[in-house]
Amino acid sequence: MSTCYNCSELPSIKIAKTNEPSCIPCFLHWFEEDVHQTIIETKIFQTGEKVAIGVSGGKDSTVLAHTMNILNQRHQYGLDLYLVCIDEGIEGYRDASIREVLINEKDLGLPLKILSYKDLYGWTMDEIVKKIGAKNNCTFCGVFRRQALDR
Ligand SMILES: [Zn+2]
Repeated sequence: MSTCYNCSELPSIKIAKTNEPSCIPCFLHWFEEDVHQTIIETKIFQTGEKVAIGVSGGKDSTVLAHTMNILNQRHQYGLDLYLVCIDEGIEGYRDASIREVLINEKDLGLPLKILSYKDLYGWTMDEIVKKIGAKNNCTFCGVFRRQALDR
């Protein structure tokens, strides 16, 4: 039986990028340092920058926000991190994921700004769908979300 690439524990997964067996704690550390290497190689951030992380409450942006927060502290990037969430105004969908975003805010201790379609444009997605029907609503929603993140 093989062991973790980094310690004597039994492996739970195989790291796709390296093809090596890993236990969960070693994988998490490997993942964080892999992201760090990419940040360093691409010189994507400058010390003192304000960085807004778009968060939806889903797993991808939650992992991104957690990883950025850990790396900013561990490697002293000197970044001012913020969480930004766009509320499209879709009942039964975004209201549920915003509850997750509020948990992120609490866990990470980062300032959170929630921008709603209602505040930015005067319409929620639910109101738009009532007016135009369900056919082209993804077009409206996608364009509105990109513009909201830009603003
Ligand atoms: Zn290990």
